[in-house]
Amino acid sequence: MIDTHIHADSRSSEDFEDMYLAGIDTAITCSFYPYKVSEEILLNHLNRILEFDTKRASRYGIDLKVALGIHPTNTIENPERIFNELYSWIENKQIIAIGEIGLEDLTDIEIETFKKQLAIADETDSKVIIHTPRKNKLEVLKKILDITPQYLDEKQAVIDHINSDVIGEVIDKDYMLGLTVQPQKLDVAGAIAILDEFGFDRFFLDSDMSNNPSDHLSVPKTIRELTRLGYKQSDIEKVSQDNAKKYYGL
Ligand SMILES: [Zn+2]
Repeated sequence: MIDTHIHADSRSSEDFEDMYLAGIDTAITCSFYPYKVSEEILLNHLNRILEFDTKRASRYGIDLKVALGIHPTNTIENPERIFNELYSWIENKQIIAIGEIGLEDLTDIEIETFKKQLAIADETDSKVIIHTPRKNKLEVLKKILDITPQYLDEKQAVIDHINSDVIGEVIDKDYMLGLTVQPQKLDVAGAIAILDEFGFDRFFLDSDMSNNPSDHLSVPKTIRELTRLGYKQSDIEKVSQDNAKKYYGL
């Protein structure tokens, strides 16, 4: 199985061990720093993920793929050095996507940072992982859907943390969609209800395990529940790994 969105830097080695034993072979870890950032702190955070957490997870059998970028809550005044690093990480194939990026409070600096990262993705033909917030999800999602196609082909973007309240806004577009099975976001039954209604082709599953309350086994739990309920094996495999493998070329 592939957990398509985690924050490995904020989790323990014991979590990686549990995940591996539950059948997760690969996870995509994204950037997000939970406290005040400066250019130096952010760069250290991003390099730590790339150079330290990948090795830490691999000791427990988890192949950690990396998405780096400036999370909307980590915006800084002068992000140029980070953007330059992004170009080189992409060129050196050290990251599989720019992420997670997106909008949170709709401030001007957030919007500028988001647009710039979409432009870099377009220029470098990269994928992006776009965060949608817990609060004002619909309003912020509408802004994301307004901005993104001005910079990037919808097919190059994953819109994450989609739930049943907002799925109507995105289901007819070309984005890939992330279902985040996490306390306070979406439970196993809620994710399965969405897959049941809209099919398995356009979705990824993830735990978004982070400093926030999380279940590092929520992807295996969802997959096992789909199996127990008798869904088609070929459909289950789409969300357990096939969609992510195909999309990111893993
Ligand atoms: Zn996240």
